[in-house]
Amino acid sequence: MTEQSLRALAQIPTSELPGVSDKLAERLEIMGITTVLDLLQHYPRRYIDRTKQAVIADLVVGEEATVFGTVTSISSRKTRTRKTMVEAKVSDGDATMTVTFFNQPWREKQLSAGTEAAFFAKVDLYQGRRQMVNPVVDVVGQLGEKTGVIVPIYPQSGKADISTSQLARIVSNALTYADALSDPLDADIREELKLVNDRAWAYRAIHRPTDGAEAHQAARRLRFDEFLRMQLGLVARKRALDGETTGITHTVDGPLVPKFHASLPYELTGDQQRTIREIAEDLARPAPMHRLLQGDVGSGKTVVALSALLMAVQGGYQGAFMAPTEVLAEQHFLAAREMLAQLMVTSDLQLGGERPVTVALLTNRTTAAERRKLASALAAGECDIVIGTHALIYGDVEFSNLGLVVIDEQHRFGVEQRALLRGRGTDPDVLVMTATPIPRTAGMLIYGDLDKSELREMPPGRTPITTTVVAPETDAHVQAYGQLRAEVANLHQAYVVCPLVEGSPRTEAKAATDVFAELATGELAGLRLGLLHGQLKAAEKESVMAEFRAGEIDVLVATTVIEVGVDVPNATVMVIEDANRFGLSQLHQLRGRVGRGGGASWCFLVADATTSDAEARMEAMADSTDGFLLAERDLEIRGAGEVFGERQSGFSDLKLGRIPRDEKYVIAARDTAQRILDADPALEAHRQLAEEVEDLLGDDVEFLFKS
Ligand code: ADP
Ligand code: MG
Repeated sequence: MTEQSLRALAQIPTSELPGVSDKLAERLEIMGITTVLDLLQHYPRRYIDRTKQAVIADLVVGEEATVFGTVTSISSRKTRTRKTMVEAKVSDGDATMTVTFFNQPWREKQLSAGTEAAFFAKVDLYQGRRQMVNPVVDVVGQLGEKTGVIVPIYPQSGKADISTSQLARIVSNALTYADALSDPLDADIREELKLVNDRAWAYRAIHRPTDGAEAHQAARRLRFDEFLRMQLGLVARKRALDGETTGITHTVDGPLVPKFHASLPYELTGDQQRTIREIAEDLARPAPMHRLLQGDVGSGKTVVALSALLMAVQGGYQGAFMAPTEVLAEQHFLAAREMLAQLMVTSDLQLGGERPVTVALLTNRTTAAERRKLASALAAGECDIVIGTHALIYGDVEFSNLGLVVIDEQHRFGVEQRALLRGRGTDPDVLVMTATPIPRTAGMLIYGDLDKSELREMPPGRTPITTTVVAPETDAHVQAYGQLRAEVANLHQAYVVCPLVEGSPRTEAKAATDVFAELATGELAGLRLGLLHGQLKAAEKESVMAEFRAGEIDVLVATTVIEVGVDVPNATVMVIEDANRFGLSQLHQLRGRVGRGGGASWCFLVADATTSDAEARMEAMADSTDGFLLAERDLEIRGAGEVFGERQSGFSDLKLGRIPRDEKYVIAARDTAQRILDADPALEAHRQLAEEVEDLLGDDVEFLFKS
C-alpha cells in the first residue's frame, strides 16, 4: 500500500471494508461514522484489563470492581417512593450477583436475559448478599477468543444497535489502512515532545494496546495532533489578518471621543480607559481590527463600544452596532441616542460645518419606508451609527462608508459574515463583545486568532447581591416572594425568571403565561406584573420593556429572553424558578440583571438539586458573583464541548482532548504551530498538515495555505 493521508482515509466509505454490509454501513452512519477515518477516530471510551477482572465469588464489599457476566434474569418494579427499580441477576459462570438500577427503566430492555456485559461499580452488601447499584455498564456482545488482554470499550449508541465487540471487529479491518499512514510531524519535533512513535503506530495502539502504557502513549500522540491542527489554523489565520493592509486607517485622536467622555455622569474605570486605548491603536493601523472585548455583565462594555464607534464616525466613517435580539438592539439604541445627543460632528453639508451625531435603529421590524429613508441617509452620509440585529448585515441596507462593526454578546464573527461585508466593498474593523468570560486555555482554542481586551474591574457603586438557594414549596420559597414584595414596596422592581421548558418555544411561552397567571392571583396579587417571552410580537416585547424601564411595571415575569444585557438599575430582586435546570453561565447572566445600582440586591435560586452537577452549580452561584471564577467552575463541571457548543470552532474535533485538563497540550501545540509556521508560513513543505487543518476548519482557512 502506498503512503496514506488522513484526507485519503476520509474518502473511503465504511462499506468498502470487508464485513461491512450496506445495512451495517447505514447503522454506523447513525453514529456519525461514514468513512474509514471516522472509524479510526472512533476511539475507545475506556479499556478493560481482563487480567484485572473480578470473579464474583471474590468480590470485596466496599471496593470497586469490574465484572464480566451474563444477565440471567431481569425485572422491574416501583419502590415505595415511586422510583423505578430494575433488578438483574448476573452470573459469571460460577457465582451470581444482583445488579440494581434506580431511575433507569430502560435498563430492562437493554439488559435482557442472555446479554453479556461488563459492570463496574463499588460492591455493596444488601440483605447479606453482594450487589452493585447503578454500575457503569458496557454491553460487550460475544467476546471472541481472539480478543486481547486489554478489551477496548467503544462509545455506543442504542439507536444504532452495534455492540462494542462488533465495533472492535470493524475497526480491526480499518486498521490495515492506518498502518499505511505517513506521519506529517517532523521527526525532530516528535522527539522533542517525546511522542516516541509515529502516527500509524498510534492509531493501532489506541485501538489495540497490549497494555495500559501503550494506550496512554497513543492517546498522547493523537491528542497532540488534535490540538496542533487547531492551533495551526488559528495561528495562521491570525498572522494573515495581521499582515493585511486592506483595512481602514482611522484617525483616532479628534475631539469627539474626549467630548463624549466628558459628557458622561461618571469617570471611566481604568480598564475601560485601557481598553479604549487598545482599540484606538488597532483602528489607527491599516490591518483590520479583530478584537474581542470580554467583560462580565455590568462591567460597562457599552460605553467602550460607543467610544469605538465615535472614533470611526469622527473620520467620516459609519459604524454598525449589532445586538443578538430586538429587545437589546432597542435598548442600545435608546441608550446611545441619549448618551450621544449633545455630540456634534463636522459636516460639509450643514451650515456652520457641524451637525449632531445621528443614530438609527434597524431591525426586522423596520418598515420598508423607514428602510428606504435610512438607506438614503446612509448613502448621503447623513447617518453615523446604525444599531440593530442581524438585519444589519444580512439585510438590504447598504452602508456607503462602513468603518467599524461592533457585535454584542456573540462569540464569533465568522468568516462568512466578514465575506458578506467584504462583498460590499468594505473591510471594516470588528469588535466582538462577550459577557461570558472564557477561561484562558479555552480562549486559546476559540479565540486564538483574536486580540483580547478585558474589563475585569467593575464600575464603582455596584451593590452586593445576596444569593440564596431555596427549595421549592418551602417556607423559604414563600419568604423569597416576601422579600420581593418588600422591595417593590420600597419602589424597587423585580424579575421572576420562569422555568426552562423542553419542547418548542411555544410550550415554554405557555408555561411562562401560566406562571404569570398564578403569581398574579397568588404570591404577587396586587402588584403590577408584566410578561415577557419569546413568542410575543416584537412590538409587544418592546412595549413591555418600555413600561418596565419607565417603572410602570413592578415585576417582570420572563423567560430567558432577559438573559443578555437588559439594563434596569432600579431592579433589585430576582427569583429564578427551577434554577437547577439552568447552566451556570446562564444563571450568572440572569443574575447580572440585578445589582446594577438600585440598592442592595437579592437573587433567589429556587432549586430542587437533583443531580450533583446541579448542586455544584447552585453552590458556585451562592459562593461567588465573579463571572471569571464562575466560568472556570462551569468548565470544570461540564467540560468544553458542553460549554461552548459542539459546533464552536472545532471543539467537535476534540475527541481525545479535554479542556481545561489538557492545558499543557494546548500550549505545546501552540508553540509547535508557531515554529512550523515560522519556517514554512504557507505550509508548502507540510502539505499533509495543511490538508488536515483545512479539513478541520473548512473555508475559514482554505485561503491561507498554498497548494
Ligand atoms: P455590560 O458590560 O453588561 O454591557 P453596561 O455597558 O450595560 O454593561 O453597563 C452597566 C451599567 O454600568 C450601566 O448602567 C452603565 O451606565 C454603568 N457604567 C458603565 N461604566 C461606568 C463607570 N465607569 N462608572 C459608573 N457606572 C458605569
Ligand atoms: Mg451589554
